[in-house]
Amino acid sequence: MNERYDFRTKRLFVEQDLSAGVALSIERTQANYLLNVLRLKARDKVLLFNGRDGEWLANIVPTGRKACDLMPTEQLRTQPAPYDLTYCFAPLKQGRLDYMVQKAVEMGAGRLVPVISDYTQIHKLNLERLRANIVEAAEQCGILSIPELEEPRPLNDLIETWPVEQPDRVLIFCDELANASEQAQRLEAVRHKQHAVLIGPEGGFSNKERSLLREQPFVVGLSLGPRILRADTAGVAALAIVQAFIGDLR
Ligand code: SAH
Repeated sequence: MNERYDFRTKRLFVEQDLSAGVALSIERTQANYLLNVLRLKARDKVLLFNGRDGEWLANIVPTGRKACDLMPTEQLRTQPAPYDLTYCFAPLKQGRLDYMVQKAVEMGAGRLVPVISDYTQIHKLNLERLRANIVEAAEQCGILSIPELEEPRPLNDLIETWPVEQPDRVLIFCDELANASEQAQRLEAVRHKQHAVLIGPEGGFSNKERSLLREQPFVVGLSLGPRILRADTAGVAALAIVQAFIGDLR
């Protein structure tokens, strides 16, 4: 097991500031979860993070059947920089979307950008629910920053504004029609840049969208192999490839 992280102790994201000796009272649902679901008791430990102050060991101080305070005692990890990898995705139906968002967080995405393309089935997103999925994934996988979730954007708008908004970032366009030869070299050639991954909807990108993407200088095509992957599978595969070749899986 990776000694850097303590995977045994429950990790909890909190909004409040964290410092030694300053108790924080947590809301009922979190308290209920700790006391009655995880059945933690007085002096049991939890790990707290808020995305700003690193990771703190804290004692549980029950203050009622469904209420407790948490007393931070020791900072175990300092706050790292948030991940830079951007994950652009066409929204899917709720269950698969929850899964895809959680996996993107686990695979190291630091920013999630929902993209509305021609064949996207879902146009209205429950951002609160997706943010809850992001927090849950962050608590589970040991990261200390909460990846940002942006407002959904039309693909054309994303492409148009890209060179101005993110001049140093390449967009790795996962395209089942891409030519797979030399793609390791193509990824290697953009190792020094910032990176984003783009996954289309279940119905894929339209031919018009594919041509528009392919003609952008900031786009790098990536094949994920000879099989058509479901979009949520493609997300994990693409992030694993990018992280392995030019990211933090190296
Ligand atoms: N157009 C396909 C379905 C697209 S799959 C069809 O005709 O059924 C959904 C998304 O996953 C695609 O837009 C693409 O971004 C990604 N994807 C799936 N399989 C892929 C592959 N083999 N290579 C690259 N990207 C893939």
